[in-house]
Amino acid sequence: MSVRLKLTLWYSAVLAMTLLVFALTLNFVLGHDLRASVDSGLVAKAGEVIRSIQVVGGFPDPVERVVLPNVDAFATPDTFLQAETLSGQVVAHSANMGSQLLPLSKNALAAAAAGKSHLETVGQPGQRIRIYSQPLIWRGETIGVLQVGRSLVPLDSTLDRLRVFLFLGGLLTVLAAGSLGWLLARAALVPIDRVTHAAAGVQEARDLKRRVGYRGPDDEIGRLVHTINAMLDRLQTAYNRMEEAHLLQKRFLADASHELRTPLTTIRGNVELLQRAGQANPEMQKEALADISSEAARMSRLVHDLLLLARADAGYKPEMTPVDLAAVLGEVARQGAVLAGPVRFAADDPESAGLVMGDIDALKELFLIILDNAFKYTPPGGQVSLTVRQEKHFHVVGIADTGIGIDPAEQEHIFERFYRTDRARKAGGGTGLGLAIARLIAEQHQGRITVRSEPGCGSTFSVWLPGLAEAW
Ligand code: ADP
Repeated sequence: MSVRLKLTLWYSAVLAMTLLVFALTLNFVLGHDLRASVDSGLVAKAGEVIRSIQVVGGFPDPVERVVLPNVDAFATPDTFLQAETLSGQVVAHSANMGSQLLPLSKNALAAAAAGKSHLETVGQPGQRIRIYSQPLIWRGETIGVLQVGRSLVPLDSTLDRLRVFLFLGGLLTVLAAGSLGWLLARAALVPIDRVTHAAAGVQEARDLKRRVGYRGPDDEIGRLVHTINAMLDRLQTAYNRMEEAHLLQKRFLADASHELRTPLTTIRGNVELLQRAGQANPEMQKEALADISSEAARMSRLVHDLLLLARADAGYKPEMTPVDLAAVLGEVARQGAVLAGPVRFAADDPESAGLVMGDIDALKELFLIILDNAFKYTPPGGQVSLTVRQEKHFHVVGIADTGIGIDPAEQEHIFERFYRTDRARKAGGGTGLGLAIARLIAEQHQGRITVRSEPGCGSTFSVWLPGLAEAW
């Protein structure tokens, strides 16, 4: 059953119930009041007649007589008067009754004998008469009964007409209200239908850029549209992010396979060369073996880096403990001195560094990647320095070189996976994964890496690590 039909039926049912209660109450109250007014009219009329009764006779006539007034003077077209003795003999009755007489019931007679008045309704439905019987008392004794009757036909027919009117009026009102409710429900539900269609359109078109159009007040419908659109916004963002991640993953896989294939091709070529002419040419054999060895080393570096990234992508997080940054930098400086080769290397006394939350091995790897790059991209005779300073709540480790530098346009890309600048390609070595790993480690430590560089002059990489809260 549609909401529209349900709403209309509920609405009509409630209205019908209300009208029914109203009609019953009106019928009861009006009927009661009308009957009460008839009764009081009868009582008043009887009082008038009784007040007009005269007693004649007495001195000098020894016999006194009770003389009834002319009852016709009190009768109206639908009010009948009748006086009778207790034995039921009619003494007088109004002319408007014709040959008919008002019945005197046993109850009325008994009440009159007891000196009480009595009210009753007699006759068939459609011909009912309300009769008020009042005892005629003279000298303390009931000598007869005065009856005042009124036909209830006008009252009954008024009430009947009222009932018919209430029934038909109620029925028509319910039908009209139901039809109007049906139209109103449609009008109220049209915006919801529109929203449903628009949302279905978005779903069918599989176009997350589409939105549900709505121009109207910020009512229930407005809020529904707003919520759906906000949901679509979030869906679109999530979908875009997923698609971006998927693309990155695909590119990463393609780059990784390519990077792995290059050394493999070199190794296979050298092996084939060795198989064909290795024995005959010891010089060539030496060169081929050196090639194989360096390519194998490059491959194992690459696989190590790939594994590290893959683990991070799978959600692996290093275990964080309070780490003495000075100790880590001391170790990095020692290894740096070994790696420096023909480049001059100077390291700050790291004693000023404090504690950070982190993983010792990951932090060492981070600094060594940047330091290794600095040595790699600095020509012999150049200078590399390792410094540490504090800025607000951060420890800032700076690794500066006087090397080949990085073009400003390339600086934002060097942290991407497999990205290598043309200058670096010429310089050889490297996998293009080092800085991607370095950034990942920095982010895992709630830190970041910034770079300042000028082509031909050198670069400075700064690693920002938040200090341990207790240390500040
Ligand atoms: P790679 O293995 O090629 O060094 P990285 O991810 O470590 O890969 O670095 C990405 C690129 O950033 C490098 O190829 C190089 O072009 C550039 N780069 C990184 N460090 C320096 C530096 N100290 N001086 C100049 N270029 C740098």
